Amino acid sequence: MADKGILIVISGFSGAGKGTLVKRLLSDYDNYALSISMTTRLPREGERDGVEYFFTDREQFEKKIAENGLIEYASYCDHYYGTPRAYVEEQLKNGKDVILEIEIQGALKVKQQFPECLLLFVTPPSAAELERRLRGRGTETEDVIAKRLARAGTEAQGMEAYDYIVVNDDLDDCVAELNRLVDAARRAPVRSQDLIREIREELKGYVKGAE
Ligand code: 5GP
Repeated sequence: MADKGILIVISGFSGAGKGTLVKRLLSDYDNYALSISMTTRLPREGERDGVEYFFTDREQFEKKIAENGLIEYASYCDHYYGTPRAYVEEQLKNGKDVILEIEIQGALKVKQQFPECLLLFVTPPSAAELERRLRGRGTETEDVIAKRLARAGTEAQGMEAYDYIVVNDDLDDCVAELNRLVDAARRAPVRSQDLIREIREELKGYVKGAE
């Protein structure tokens, strides 16, 4: 059976480039699977149901919560966002490294339930660059941009909760760095329990012989 995959949470300010980074991780490497979230926000131009998100209404979302069908959910700028449980558990079991691209409240809830998950935080090099990228996207109104920048200020208070902070300046460098961090995380004892158990078991024979 395949080793269990790593559950990877990628957070970062709205406009930090998480979406692009995640797309690149999925296309450049074959060990990743992306969890598609449910949300009550409306699709942006070009977004498709079941691809970027499962778009739904409050009633359906609350039903999913009641069924324990979400690993976590959070409210962000007046809308619900949540991670469907079944897909994540299935992919981890199949050995995939599953990426959750979620905000900080959700990240902390995932950490409580899956203490061995890896928390990565992506930031642009500066706040001015963040504002430039948010405006450049051209998909949000001034009101929404202002809300998202204010929210970034709050989220910045929680950056220490993450395992690693990654600066998204050059896209190629940032993709490679994220992948290196995941590879290194595989070697942490908390994620190498099978290897540790096996080698300890094998070494028992020697201990007995020497006594
Ligand atoms: P956006 O509206 O820009 O697609 O997403 C807004 C924020 O919600 C982003 O920070 C994104 O990472 C976060 N988000 C997306 N899906 C989920 C989810 O399933 N759970 C939580 N907690 N946050 C999510």
